[in-house]
Amino acid sequence: MAETSETCTGEVRPGGARESARRLWQLTVDGCSAAFEALHSKELESARAEADAAAADAAAAHARLREALEILPQGIVFLDNEGRYILWNQKYADIYKRSADLFKVGIKLEDTLRIGVARGDYPAAKGREEEWIRERLELLYKPGKQHEQVLADGRCILIEERQTSDGGIIGLRMDITGLKQREASFRLLFEDNPVPMFVLRRDTRAFLAANAAALSHYGFAREELLAMSLHDLRAARDEPTEDGVDPSETSVITSKHRTSNGRTIDVVVFSRQLDYEGTPALLIAVIDITERREAEARIAHMAHHDALTDLPNRVLFRQHMADALAQRARTGSLVGALCIDLDNFKLVNDTLGHPIGDKLLQDVAERIKRVTRQRDTAARLGGDEFAVLVPEVKAPQELAVLAQRLIDVVSEPYVTEGHVLTVGTTIGIAVAPTDGEDADRLLRNADLALYRAKADGKSTFRFFEPELDAQAQARRQLEIDLRCALAAEALEVHYQPLVDLTSREVVGFEALLRWPHATRGFIPPSEFVPLAEETGLITPLGNFVLRRACADASAWPAHIKLAVNLSPMQFRVGNVFTAVSEALKATGLEPERLDLEITESVLLDRTDQVIAHLHALRALGVRISMDDFGTGYSSLSYLRAFPFDKIKIDRSFVRDLPGNRHTLAIVRAILGLAAGLDMKVVAEGIETQADLACLAAEGCEEGQGFFFSEARPQSEVLKLLAETPRRQVA
Ligand code: C2E
Ligand code: MG
Ligand code: MG
Repeated sequence: MAETSETCTGEVRPGGARESARRLWQLTVDGCSAAFEALHSKELESARAEADAAAADAAAAHARLREALEILPQGIVFLDNEGRYILWNQKYADIYKRSADLFKVGIKLEDTLRIGVARGDYPAAKGREEEWIRERLELLYKPGKQHEQVLADGRCILIEERQTSDGGIIGLRMDITGLKQREASFRLLFEDNPVPMFVLRRDTRAFLAANAAALSHYGFAREELLAMSLHDLRAARDEPTEDGVDPSETSVITSKHRTSNGRTIDVVVFSRQLDYEGTPALLIAVIDITERREAEARIAHMAHHDALTDLPNRVLFRQHMADALAQRARTGSLVGALCIDLDNFKLVNDTLGHPIGDKLLQDVAERIKRVTRQRDTAARLGGDEFAVLVPEVKAPQELAVLAQRLIDVVSEPYVTEGHVLTVGTTIGIAVAPTDGEDADRLLRNADLALYRAKADGKSTFRFFEPELDAQAQARRQLEIDLRCALAAEALEVHYQPLVDLTSREVVGFEALLRWPHATRGFIPPSEFVPLAEETGLITPLGNFVLRRACADASAWPAHIKLAVNLSPMQFRVGNVFTAVSEALKATGLEPERLDLEITESVLLDRTDQVIAHLHALRALGVRISMDDFGTGYSSLSYLRAFPFDKIKIDRSFVRDLPGNRHTLAIVRAILGLAAGLDMKVVAEGIETQADLACLAAEGCEEGQGFFFSEARPQSEVLKLLAETPRRQVA
C-alpha cells in the first residue's frame, strides 16, 4: 500500500514533506548566515525551533490535503501551468490504471497521453492519433466543458477540467460506466422495447415520451404524438367516462384505442406511476389483443355456426330457442319450431358427388334464409336437416303459411355446375306452449311431426299432434323389446317354400323372420325390420337370420335351396360379405345352396361399393336375386349394373294378374327381359289356382305364395321334407 502511494505521488509524500522542510531550513540558514556569527546561540536555537514548527505545519497541511483528496469519490489531478503533473489521488491512478506507471511529478500530461495513445489505451484515438491528442489538449486548455472518454477496457470516464488562478489545471475524473450501462438498459427497456410504451403526465394524460414501438404501432410521428394525450388515442366508441388507465399505482385495464388511420384496436393497458424528470407521470405499456379477440370471435362463431352454410348450428339454435321460450313466458305469444328435411337429398349426394351436394345445401340454406324474417333463426342441424325458429307467432296459421312458402321456394329448380336439380322438402311443425315449453321437447315434437309428414308422402308439412308422441313412445318401447328379443334369440325364422311351377316340386325355402311378442302376438317384419334398420339393430338381426337359416338349411336335403333376405342397411353399415361367409363356414352349408335376396334400393347409393360386395359374394358361390321387382324405381339400369341370378316379381303384380291386361303385359315384359338376360323368374304371392295357371302359361319357372304354403317353422319344414324327399305341393 505504501509502495503504491509512493508510485503515484512520487517524492511528494512523505519525501515531499521532508524536502520542503529541508528547503525551508536551507533558506533560513542562507538568510541568516550573516547574522549567524553575531547572534547568540540562544536566538539561533529559537529560530530553528520556529522553522521546525513551520515545517511540521506544512507537512500536516499536506497530509490533510492528501487525505481529503483520497476520500473524494472522483479521480483528481493537479497540473501546473505547463501541464505537468503535480499531484493526483489514488482514484485517478485507478481510473487510468493502464497508464498509472507513467504518472510522475513533473511529467507532462501530453507525454503520458502520447505514450498511452501509442499503447492503444484510448480506442477513440485509433487511426487519428495526432488529431485526437490535439483535440484532447485543446479541451485541457479550454476547460470548463465536460466530456466523455472511453478507455480500452470499455469503461467510460467523464472528464471536467478547471483552470486554477496560477494557470494550472485541476482535473476531475468520474467513472460513469455503470451510469452509461443503466442508460443503455433504459434505452433497451423503453426506447427499444418491442412493446408499445408511453410516458404521460399523471394530471393531464398528455404524452411526455413514447417509444419507437408505440409510434409504429399507432402510426403517429413522434411530434404528432407528443402533442396528444391518452384521451386522443381512445376509440370514440370507448366508454367516455373510462380513462383507459387506472390512477392507482399499478393497474391493468382493457380498452379500445384508435390508430392514426382510424382503425380500432383492442388493447390491454398496463400502467405504473413514476416520476419523470420531476413530473408525476405514468408509464404505460400497451398489448394489442385485437387479433386474439378476433380469433376468439372466430372460434366462437365456428362453435355456433355450420361451416358449410354459415347458418347457426344446433347449439346456437337451441340457445335461441331457449331465449325465445323464456321471452314467450313473459309476453304470452306463441313460438314455432319448424324441422325441415330435404327429400332424397342422399340421391343427389350419391349420384352427383359431395361437392354438388354441398353446393345444393348452400343454395337451400340461402333460400331458407331468404324466406325467413330477421328475427327468425334459420339453422342447419346437420346433414340435410334444417330448422327455423319463429318467435312471436300470433296464430299457428302463420307457421303453416311459412312452411308452405319454404316448401315452394326450396323445391324450385337449382342450377349447379351445369346440373339442373330439384329437391323436395318436408316440414314438421311444433308450437309452444301447446307442444312443449322447453327447447328439447319442442324440437323433438317438431321432429315427430316431420317424421309423420314424411310417412304421409313427403313434400308436405304436418303440425305435431299428441298421438305422434304416443306413437313415438310405442316405437321406443318396441325398440327396447326388439333388443331384448334379439339378445334372447326370441326371434324365429320361418320358411316359405319356393316351388317349381312345372313340376310342382319344392325347390327351396325363403327364410322369413317372425317375432312372437309377449303381449302383441306375432309382429310382422314390415313393422320391425324398418325399426331395426333405423336403430342399427339390423346388423345383429341380419347376422342372426343368416346363421339360423343356414344352420336349419343344412339339415335339409342337398337339392333344397335357401333364400335369405338382406336389408340395404346391411350393405351400408355392416360387412355383409363377412357375415355371409362366416354363416356358411359355421354351418357347413354349401354356398351354391344359398340365395341372397336384395331389393333394388340396395343399388340406390354407393353403387360401386355395393356391386363390389355383390361380386365378392357371387365369387363365394352364392346366388343373388332381385326381390320385389316392379316396385320401387325399377330402373332397368340396375339389371345391367349386376348380373342377377333371379328376378322376383312382386306380389302386387301377381295379385292383379288374372284379368288385368296391363299387369299381364308388365309380367310378360319382365319374363322376356329375364329370358334375354339369362335370369330366372320367381313369382311371389301366388294365392290362387288362377294366379298359378296364368303364370305357368306365361312360362314363369318358379313361384311362392299362400297357394302352396305360408312360411312355416323348421320343425314343420323337416316334417314336410321327410314325408317325401321330392314333395310336390298342391
Ligand atoms: P319379401 O322378401 O318380399 O317376402 C315375401 C313376403 O310376402 C313375406 O312377408 C311373405 O309372408 C309374404 N307372402 C308370401 N306369400 C304370400 C301370398 O301368397 N300372399 C301374400 N299377401 N303375402 C305373401 P313377410 O314375412 O311379412 O315379410 C315381409 C318382408 O319383410 C319381406 O318381403 C322382406 O322384405 C322382409 N323380411 C322378412 N324377413 C326378413 C329378414 O330376415 N331379413 C330382412 N332383411 N328382411 C326380411
Ligand atoms: Mg324376399
Ligand atoms: Mg318380395
